[in-house]
Amino acid sequence: MITLGLRGHRQRTNCAFVPKALWPFAVAVFAGVVWTTLVDRHVGISTALLPVTAAVSLFLSALAIIKHREKSRPAEIAAAIMIAVFGFTRLVASALTMTQGRLGDEVYSALYIQFNFLTLPAAYTGMVVFIVAMLASDLLEQSKEIAIQDQLTDMLNRRGFGEYGAKTYATARRLGRPVAVIMSDIDRFKNINDKFGHAVGDLALVHFANILKNTRRADDILARVGGEEFAIILPGTKLKDAMQIADDLCLRLESSPFEVDGVSHVMTASFGVASLSSKDSCLSDVIVRADRALYRSKRAGRNRVDLESSQFMRAIDGSLEPVKAS
Ligand code: GH3
Ligand code: MG
Ligand code: MG
Repeated sequence: MITLGLRGHRQRTNCAFVPKALWPFAVAVFAGVVWTTLVDRHVGISTALLPVTAAVSLFLSALAIIKHREKSRPAEIAAAIMIAVFGFTRLVASALTMTQGRLGDEVYSALYIQFNFLTLPAAYTGMVVFIVAMLASDLLEQSKEIAIQDQLTDMLNRRGFGEYGAKTYATARRLGRPVAVIMSDIDRFKNINDKFGHAVGDLALVHFANILKNTRRADDILARVGGEEFAIILPGTKLKDAMQIADDLCLRLESSPFEVDGVSHVMTASFGVASLSSKDSCLSDVIVRADRALYRSKRAGRNRVDLESSQFMRAIDGSLEPVKAS
């Protein structure tokens, strides 16, 4: 039963040091018990084999839980400690029964039985309670992840964007680092839905999301913040560099048509870029300016990037210098 439990912990943590197939281990222990009971009788070993196996399985289970991630959750630490304590009691039980020697000893045998009677129910109950608590914390973590995840694109949703945005803002303020935000909105997306249907519209959204993911740098935070609206937070990035990135995305999308029934369709998007200034009291202030710039891009004809400052505007014409607006 405990070895089956080890298999469960292996599945949950996907750890490499526990072999996938544990049955050869179980068969070897069973063969050892049969051998020391029927062929070459040794009461101590035959009785100790099972608690030793249990102890090894329990220690490996505890190790798998602790090594699962860099920073274990409290429920995982508690479960691992409980499992290790159980393993320790099994080692003590093995030592007691081994002391019987080859022929057996009634005193040690009685001690072994009493020790099991005292420890086994408490250890099993404690282990089950802590494992259930650990699995409940898994579910809680998963539901938290789902709550901030966009199911279609596997990016953050608006809520996740808000959470990560607040963290990025706090870090940027603390370290005095720049932060830029790029807001984007697919052009005439309604036409794609109307022409090809909602399912193809969804594929187009995934297509755009993949372009964003493929150009993402390690720290960038991507989110789908609306139906066909996407946002990128760029920690440590200045306005000029963010604009370069938005430019690149805009050109890349236009030059990467998506296919419907073997026919390629060009899709474009409009972009707005803004960066954190000393007057901002939260990242939403930057997002609002990036949003305004995005809608200026829309008004200016779509498929282009606009900066937060209304003094600078630039169409996607291949040049890198900002063009002064009239
Ligand atoms: P504009 O260039 O001004 O942005 O025009 P648009 O057609 O992209 O803008 P509009 O806001 O009129 O249309 C957005 C459309 O996106 C309307 C809505 O049906 C569609 N949409 C929103 N969410 C989804 C989704 O999850 N899947 C699909 N397929 N369509 C969606
Ligand atoms: Mg829109
Ligand atoms: Mg749109």
